[in-house]
Amino acid sequence: MINSDEFWNELDSYTKDMIEAIADLSARRYIILCNVRTRQCWWSESAARFFNHDDFYFTAEQTKTLATIHPDDFGNFLGFISTIIRGKGTDAVIEFRAKPNNASEYNFFSMKGRVISSKDGKPHFALLMLHNYGIREEIDEITGLHNEISFSRRIAEKIDDNIGNVILKVAIEKFSHINVMYGAEYANKLIREVAENIARLTGDDGTVYRLSGVKFGICLRPMSRTDLKSFYRKLVDLLADKIFVEGKKVPLKISAGAIILDNFMKDAVAVRSRITYALNHSKQYHHGDLVIFNDEVCGGINDNLDLISTIHQCALNGCEGFYMCYQPIVNPKDGRIKGMEALVRWRRDPYGNIPPGTFIEWLEEDPCIFELGNWILRRSLEDAKEIASEDPEFFINVNISAAQIERHEFRESVTQILEESGLNPKQLCMELTERCRELDTKFLREEINFFKSKGIKLAMDDFGTGNASLSVALNLPIDELKIDMSFVKDIKNKPVNQAMVKSIVEFANTTNLETCIEGVEDDSVKEYLGQFDATWHQGYFYSRPVPIQEFKELYYLSNRN
Ligand code: C2E
Ligand code: CA
Ligand code: CA
Repeated sequence: MINSDEFWNELDSYTKDMIEAIADLSARRYIILCNVRTRQCWWSESAARFFNHDDFYFTAEQTKTLATIHPDDFGNFLGFISTIIRGKGTDAVIEFRAKPNNASEYNFFSMKGRVISSKDGKPHFALLMLHNYGIREEIDEITGLHNEISFSRRIAEKIDDNIGNVILKVAIEKFSHINVMYGAEYANKLIREVAENIARLTGDDGTVYRLSGVKFGICLRPMSRTDLKSFYRKLVDLLADKIFVEGKKVPLKISAGAIILDNFMKDAVAVRSRITYALNHSKQYHHGDLVIFNDEVCGGINDNLDLISTIHQCALNGCEGFYMCYQPIVNPKDGRIKGMEALVRWRRDPYGNIPPGTFIEWLEEDPCIFELGNWILRRSLEDAKEIASEDPEFFINVNISAAQIERHEFRESVTQILEESGLNPKQLCMELTERCRELDTKFLREEINFFKSKGIKLAMDDFGTGNASLSVALNLPIDELKIDMSFVKDIKNKPVNQAMVKSIVEFANTTNLETCIEGVEDDSVKEYLGQFDATWHQGYFYSRPVPIQEFKELYYLSNRN
């Protein structure tokens, strides 16, 4: 038996209370504290409860029997623990599956650790933080392929594997038009067809995963750059020429990023970020040509990785350097500002101003987006308070990322922040960005219903992009569609875009959904859009996003008399 007084003796008298309080406050996070010297461990109540133990103190020997770790994850798990206990690898994150000994299904966990050394520099305590993500499905329903969760796990495994493995991430371009025009069923058939073709081409050379949206991950056996490039060329040709749905050829264009794992890549999160970076590069600057990370084409990437890690640190550090701007949302009939969209910004020397389009995507793969999201909501509601209390019709739109909704604490944070702000819930509208729509529909509907029951409005952001069709909108109890600006750009010369905007607005009007057309950049576009009966307009023509003081001036000016 371990004497609990003895265990905590070596620490300050408040430490135990504090650690317990932290564990209590973090739903689904468990803390384990190990005394490396005595080889004794303490589990937070939440951890002990989840794994069905009445006791909180265990010897190192006992800990091996306290939970069942998935056999495939066991090696990684042990490696991680021994690295941490040796006081090394403090930035590493491990993902693994575990369950209480008598349970049938595994839960997914991520774990981080820190070592606390004594004055002589020798490790004394190891603090482990576990995050329980619950039971997650690993198979994509549409294609039958393994999904993003498996992909992430596989990357973590490959890192420890023999060197030279290749990870490829492929995105199908301009899929959104197909989705909106032909509907979800057709789009799903197409995705299935694509998946089958990619899997056939890959054969024994690797494993294919369906990632969020219309992206695929491929883990390939070690191969040379030349072989990789020739594999990709075959893939490009295949998707451009050999995809048929309902007897008709559908030519698809793709872009891709890849990484060849080497000795220096030991962090799965960093590997994923780099592949995403390479993929974005391929899309933006190389017309879909394969970008292999570390190639000359990725010049400046290390500066970027440095930037990402700085932003990450700042987000954790009280959201240092972040600030908000607000863009007016206007009633196109009378030109009055009736609401605003909160848009986050980040500024810091020597980087200067970094636009959110760059960093939000990076942070979405990082748990700190949750804390930042709460900070954004709190700040925005605080800034909206003055006008909102004078004008009960006034509303504020706040962007919500998938990584926020997915968290179990999200409902509670929003409710609490809203309550603290004193704003009427009706005056808050949460914009669900593209990736939110890729969440499980049932889950998403439940979350939306919860927020609606609180009186909060919900909008679907960037509608028309990504993997959302009208039928998805029909199935979700949302209040507003925000039509993506890519449809508005050059709308006067693009009949397809005209048809899209027209059909979206008409559909919304018949189902009592509000619409907001984004990206109204100039007078002529505004005039042209007048023929569509959209509820709201937003764009540079009315105003760029501005700091709150400037917004207030615009608001009062447009609402005079
Ligand atoms: P979004 O939600 O679609 O936001 C609209 C973006 O379009 C903003 O870019 C805005 O400055 C820009 N914009 C507005 N009017 C016009 C126009 O007339 N023409 C053009 N070309 N652009 C216009 P920004 O602020 O750079 O934000 C980019 C994206 O970053 C946002 O797209 C949103 O997805 C994300 N984001 C921004 N703030 C937040 C936030 O607080 N939380 C989350 N989760 N995401 C955010
Ligand atoms: Ca938005
Ligand atoms: Ca948008």
